[in-house]
Amino acid sequence: MEITIPNEVMELIAKRGIKEADVKDVIETAESSNKKIVANGRNIAKKRIGEATIYVDYDLEKGLIRKHATVKSAYSHRLALGKIVNATDKSDWVCAHCNAPAMYGHVEMTYMQVTRNGPAVVCPKCNDSWVEEYLATKTLAAVEGLFEKKRA
Ligand SMILES: [Zn+2]
Repeated sequence: MEITIPNEVMELIAKRGIKEADVKDVIETAESSNKKIVANGRNIAKKRIGEATIYVDYDLEKGLIRKHATVKSAYSHRLALGKIVNATDKSDWVCAHCNAPAMYGHVEMTYMQVTRNGPAVVCPKCNDSWVEEYLATKTLAAVEGLFEKKRA
């Protein structure tokens, strides 16, 4: 498995406090388990590492000898994803593990012992869920900040 992280992505992940080793770990785990969502050549994989769920958005080329991943972005959230609440709308995403369409819906999200429903891409077949980048970096980051402030 060959993994390329372009310079501008290296800068972005450093700013987001994500380690290069974790990005590689997420991709390698996803490629060996086939647990990821795919759409039009794009792949989104995630892994809980320590207190955060790390996501990597990457392109994948299947070479003759080994696969080559090019990282487009990486992001994270700290709240924990729980069970799927609903699956309401079609998405372009396919759950690679089930080879079934993934849906837009809601999942239980728990942070600092409080659970709320939040939007996610879900696979009702394997009960897995993924948060897209704009939601993780904007909405969820704001929610986490609010909870931390309340706790402080
Ligand atoms: Zn699935």
